[in-house]
Amino acid sequence: MGMVFSGEVALVTGGAAGIGRETALAFAAEGLKVVVSDVDVAGGEGTVALIRNAGGTASFIRCDVTRDAEVKALMEATLAAYGRLDYAFNNAGIEIEQGDRLPDGTEAEFDAIMNVNVKGVWNCLRHQLPIMLAQGGGAVVNTASIAGLCAAPKMSIYAASKHAVIGLTKSAAIEYARKKVRVNAVCPAVIDTEMFRRAHGGDEQYAAGVASRHPMGRVGQPGEIAAAVLFLCSDGAAFTTGHALTVDGGWTAI
Ligand code: NAD
Repeated sequence: MGMVFSGEVALVTGGAAGIGRETALAFAAEGLKVVVSDVDVAGGEGTVALIRNAGGTASFIRCDVTRDAEVKALMEATLAAYGRLDYAFNNAGIEIEQGDRLPDGTEAEFDAIMNVNVKGVWNCLRHQLPIMLAQGGGAVVNTASIAGLCAAPKMSIYAASKHAVIGLTKSAAIEYARKKVRVNAVCPAVIDTEMFRRAHGGDEQYAAGVASRHPMGRVGQPGEIAAAVLFLCSDGAAFTTGHALTVDGGWTAI
């Protein structure tokens, strides 16, 4: 059985690469019109080109999710282009590894991570939820992480930011539970994107060690996150809200 979508228009932040690009492609493959957004213009336009070459409909709109005015303009441009906003995947995020211990993190690192990962999602929700309410429904998926559920040694600020994403997700879900707007989160383990490649820097032994920490013995693929995001947006998840869905090869089951 294929997934059923009542809506027509999907927005993906962080859509220039990795998980965001793969999810934008997956929405388009389901026949949805897709707004791809990112600070990386070349990457975002590359995602749009891939969608159009496959016969889909997409536009790129540049937006830094940390800037409220840009996020507001992104939602306005989405409505101007396609008239609706049915699904939003708030996925833009950054990681910074601190030293071995929590005090090794700097104030600048704290502000940078919190700005993108927490304030960015909050900015998006603030401008998306009124649109979905006014049009009679919608679904949002925020990208958290297994670091939103578990410890992330050497990445305590990142872990704090992803726990916060789950807090925003659950709170918004309850506020809108009777208003046909669902809000969920996806919690990936390590996924084979630029983010992972930056972490291992070509060190195959390190990469293999990370892979073996997953009970399935491998890292995930971006398409495996896209599939979960599409499910959470689809009518098949009509009774699911406020959920943090792990897609983690068994990591959090240990
Ligand atoms: P990625 O680095 O390939 O992609 C992230 C995208 O976000 C990039 O295109 C980047 O330009 C964009 N971005 C960064 N700051 C932005 C800003 N201020 N405004 C708009 N766009 C911005 O990484 P990815 O692995 O695809 O990560 C996507 C999401 O998944 C992130 O939220 C990340 O924290 C989360 N995640 C990744 C992994 C992993 O192992 N790759 C695991 C768990 C969660």
